[in-house]
Amino acid sequence: MSCIRFQQNINKFIKSELDAEDMDFFVGHAKKCRECYDELEINYIINVGLERIEKDSKASFDLKGELERKLKQLEEKADRLYKFNVYNKIVCITAYTCMVAVIILSMFDFLGIF
Ligand SMILES: [Zn+2]
Repeated sequence: MSCIRFQQNINKFIKSELDAEDMDFFVGHAKKCRECYDELEINYIINVGLERIEKDSKASFDLKGELERKLKQLEEKADRLYKFNVYNKIVCITAYTCMVAVIILSMFDFLGIF
């Protein structure tokens, strides 16, 4: 099942259009599943290589190295997104807690408890 999901996302990865929720899965699966990594490598070399040939680009043809760098960048991006989401949740929980505390203290003040 996860191999199918990975392979469905190969073209999105090559076009740098992978959804945020698929990034972490994609990098993790590429690291642990050799068959899918090979499939990714073949697709990457064919798609990017043909595009370079069509454009007669003078850019590097170290496509295997380029793929590894692109996966590493995606891993770092997925890690930053994960940390951002965790910090975002902490900030939201802190803000809600402060709002509840203010409401409770206001009620105590209104009732003359303090
Ligand atoms: Zn796989």
